[in-house]
Amino acid sequence: MSTRWSCAICSRQISWSELFTFYSKGAVHFTCFKDAAISKANNDEAKALLDALENELKMIVAYKGYITMVKNDDAKRLLEENEKDAEKHAALLTKLIDRHVMQQG
Ligand SMILES: [Zn+2]
Repeated sequence: MSTRWSCAICSRQISWSELFTFYSKGAVHFTCFKDAAISKANNDEAKALLDALENELKMIVAYKGYITMVKNDDAKRLLEENEKDAEKHAALLTKLIDRHVMQQG
């Protein structure tokens, strides 16, 4: 199933099954964002930041799955809060990579 966003780098429609994030130019596939960042700065620091971002994006997907599996209201609420934290972490990492890696050179 497709989201309503197309990727700012490859222009293809983004599917819900793909990892994606939002940066200064709009929505992007994680893989497109990663390739663009690595082409600007192929170093351990950029790789570490991209790896952290990938894991947060995977956590968002995982939490969305867990939320559909629990019935208990407290559990659902906690999982929703954790998912929002992962979204916040992903947004902060994307912003940092955008500023420090993508806009280099
Ligand atoms: Zn793309």
